[in-house]
Amino acid sequence: MYGIPASHPRYRSLLLRAHMAEEMERGLIVPEGLIAHGRGEAFDYIIGEKTMPFAAKAERAAAAHLLLAKCPVISVNGNVAALASKEVATLASSLPSLKVEVNLFHRTPARAELVADRLRSAGVREILGVHPTVRLRGLPSDRGWVDQNGILVADTVLVPLEDGDRAKALASSGKFVIAVDLNPLSRTARAADLPIIDELKRALVRVNSSVISLKRRRSAWARIVETTDGQELRRQALAHMADRLKRLARGSSQEQPPRAR
Ligand code: ATP
Ligand code: MG
Repeated sequence: MYGIPASHPRYRSLLLRAHMAEEMERGLIVPEGLIAHGRGEAFDYIIGEKTMPFAAKAERAAAAHLLLAKCPVISVNGNVAALASKEVATLASSLPSLKVEVNLFHRTPARAELVADRLRSAGVREILGVHPTVRLRGLPSDRGWVDQNGILVADTVLVPLEDGDRAKALASSGKFVIAVDLNPLSRTARAADLPIIDELKRALVRVNSSVISLKRRRSAWARIVETTDGQELRRQALAHMADRLKRLARGSSQEQPPRAR
């Protein structure tokens, strides 16, 4: 596909890059979104391109938080729509209380419509945030627009690949912020109550499986929430990355950089 030989050791990564470049040409994502994607790839490379225990724990806790929430919302930007519209739709159908809101850092009406179209084709029935009318306190300019029936009134927000300022504004407005971000050092990951340090698609698939398995186990939700310290999991992600780099620097044969895929 895209003229990339399937035998290339980084075939899937190159395929995804070509897909993202195409999405930029269509106007779904902006050039800055490509840079953000590259930063994510670099962190995933160091993590080892798989879900680690600190992420798995955060993903299960995210499911418990979303199940307990009165008004949970997932915020969707261009990169999220390009990478994981199907996974967003699946999660929204497993958890009918979850509202889906378009939330763009670089907002134009046309882009908001494109993101909404992509979500609709993936199966999301109701989409908020296409014509937002209110602003979140503490955020100037276009970045502060939110939907009055969505993020404005949400008690729990799932913000994949969010900007740090916005993550901070959401947290300081008293909402419980669950972030998905491969960079444990980002302001978003540090501001979030529950940072999931994992790749977006892997994370959403696991949050969805946990929602399904926890749905009928209401008594377990509060215990999971109470025994999860999001910032401790973020520190574990950093420790994992540091340890892995040290093992690689020693030339450990058990610990190789990402293999052919
Ligand atoms: P902050 O403002 O939070 O400090 P930032 O400057 O690091 O953020 P942003 O552009 O705000 O970056 O957000 C992009 C973030 O999303 C990056 O930290 C990047 O690591 C992460 N990211 C990119 N692609 C993915 C992905 N597929 N899955 C998870 N995280 C990703
Ligand atoms: Mg960020």
